[in-house]
Amino acid sequence: MQDIQTMAVPASEQILRNPGTWALFIDIDGTLLDMAPAPDAVVVPPAVVRILAELARTFDGAVALSTGRQVRDADRLFAPLQLTTCGVHGTEARIVPGGEVMALVPQAPPALVEAVIEVARIAPGVLVEQKGAGVAVHYRNALEARALLEHELARIVGRFARFALRPGRRVLEIIPEGYSKGTALAWLMRSAPFQGRRPVMIGDDAGDQPALSAAEQDGGFGLKVAGEHFSLAQSDFDSISHVRSWLAALAGLPPDVVGRG
Ligand SMILES: [Mg+2]
Repeated sequence: MQDIQTMAVPASEQILRNPGTWALFIDIDGTLLDMAPAPDAVVVPPAVVRILAELARTFDGAVALSTGRQVRDADRLFAPLQLTTCGVHGTEARIVPGGEVMALVPQAPPALVEAVIEVARIAPGVLVEQKGAGVAVHYRNALEARALLEHELARIVGRFARFALRPGRRVLEIIPEGYSKGTALAWLMRSAPFQGRRPVMIGDDAGDQPALSAAEQDGGFGLKVAGEHFSLAQSDFDSISHVRSWLAALAGLPPDVVGRG
């Protein structure tokens, strides 16, 4: 039996009964994993890798990670598991688990990256992460610098055509215009094993919103995780551990798998 908290998530019973008609899209940071002082400092409990691997089997491969991270970075976190993954907000993707990563957009221009690195010097603790088509500026260790960073980064973006500044959880990201986790979801839903299924997207942040909406527009569900962006009242999951137990239940794993770390 699943507990009531787990079953309160929309469509839980339908998905448990017939996983073959559903596809899962899951954000990583703040959804599956707790935030850390730096992106490479997150802790990945072995149970999370086990849950993802089992989910991929349960859903016949129709499980994708959708992240602001690069695909190779996500691979490092969950090694040796390699799921279908969309990286850097839909600008790169690996469709076949274990296959090649495709860049859907060229690398960010060096002049853009250099300008961002220069601006990041305004406060100690600001971390610039170059990632494929995008650049992320993490200010979680320099919260007081946010307004100034945002102002300066907006000026830089204004100088380069076809880029947009997107705020996230203690991060400001410069991403090519027209790409998002929403475009990634719609794109994956056009091919097997996702095609013909109903998408469920789980996310915790502003960058997940296009994919939460895309899932709902495609007849599925956008499920929100409470945190710094979504309030408890507007969320389907009250915590990351709630997400993990729900996914464990979908994967047919016992609820205590999450507690075992
Ligand atoms: Mg997130």
